[in-house]
Amino acid sequence: MAQLSPVLKQATPVLAARGEGVYLYGEDGRRHLDFTAGIGVTSTGHCHPRVVEAAQRQVATLVHGQYTTVMHRPLLDLTDRLGEVLPPALDSLFFLNSGSEAVEAAVRLVRHATGRQNILVCHGSFHGRTMGAAALTTAGTKFRAGIGPLMPGVAVTPFPFAYRYGWTEDEAVAFALRELDYVLATTSPPADTAAVFVEPVLGEGGYVPTPAAFMEGLRERADRHGFLLVADEVQTGFGRTGRFWGHQHSAAVPDVIVTAKGLASGFPLSAIAAPRALMEKAWPGSQGGTYGGNAVACAAAIATLDVIRDEKLVDNAARMGDRLLAGLRTIAERHPEIGDVRGRGLMAATEFTTVTGTPDTALAQRALTESAERGLLLLPCGAHSNTVRMIPALVVNESQIDDALSVWGEAVEAAVK
Ligand code: PMP
Repeated sequence: MAQLSPVLKQATPVLAARGEGVYLYGEDGRRHLDFTAGIGVTSTGHCHPRVVEAAQRQVATLVHGQYTTVMHRPLLDLTDRLGEVLPPALDSLFFLNSGSEAVEAAVRLVRHATGRQNILVCHGSFHGRTMGAAALTTAGTKFRAGIGPLMPGVAVTPFPFAYRYGWTEDEAVAFALRELDYVLATTSPPADTAAVFVEPVLGEGGYVPTPAAFMEGLRERADRHGFLLVADEVQTGFGRTGRFWGHQHSAAVPDVIVTAKGLASGFPLSAIAAPRALMEKAWPGSQGGTYGGNAVACAAAIATLDVIRDEKLVDNAARMGDRLLAGLRTIAERHPEIGDVRGRGLMAATEFTTVTGTPDTALAQRALTESAERGLLLLPCGAHSNTVRMIPALVVNESQIDDALSVWGEAVEAAVK
């Protein structure tokens, strides 16, 4: 009898039968408060009726209008609709299936557009697991170990992770920009540098909001040296951070946006967006894939945009995010084992450390387990998996935030005993 490969590592023992809003129901009938949202994907909640209805209608109409063979209406309509929420200059879109694929498409694009090879990435970033995207990923050795050699032409520059350095944010930004200049002077000369990729909030690397001054410093270097700024908004896009795009917490407008996850409420869909003048430099036919821009996924994405607009989910994410973060901080005050609480919008994290400030992975794991046993599903993040993150659907309400906080308070209490 065939079995699932042990390569699959699952964060919780739940066997999910159905989902509704911020809740998942196990096959055993148990209800779980889902603060993972499928790793930040089910932006409108599980099975939002309007998304379900749009997808069902599309399934019965056209499932696979293969886009390198024929065009289909949902893809054209979604392109129009994304034009309304993207920075106006980023008026050209291309669709794929996953975040990793879109990251790789962005690598091709920036190399074609600049004629340069090197990609700069920030230390601790996560850009995906496919081999090209893995070369850009330094969020933990588990994503790289034993699979190399990886794609060359990637230079790593520090991320201003103030808590890790034990500095103020200003000190961390000044250091990271100084080191970036040093990397450009020593390792990846501007004439060889195609782009810098950055997450507006460091995601898998520990839920660290990227300071506005750092984003703006990257923008300034990109302009000065003629390379491109790519915002990997796979996790931060679609209202997740309390603004529509994560980069909107700064004045820096990227040249390329990579998006996926929240875009289609759970259907596999991703996209890259850039000015048409840049996209024109890519070689026609150099991007694509059998399943990219699937018609059902596009219909779900249009419905997702409708729901985000009509239910004012970006504002809700900002308000609920503030409530969540404030509650996490109150809990942290009771526990010296919590070294840091941070976040932006509905990306909130609690980092566990020992009294000497060393990452405490075992304690974070105990807190995750205690929490799951009490019906609250959470995920770890950070290089040492010692940070617990909360990413509920954007439809989460006050009483669900308070329920989660009360379970989390108990879970931490039990874990530190
Ligand atoms: N970039 C970022 C910022 C991500 O958070 C992720 C997924 N966690 C990816 C890229 C890769 O996306 P996918 O898993 O869909 O390939």
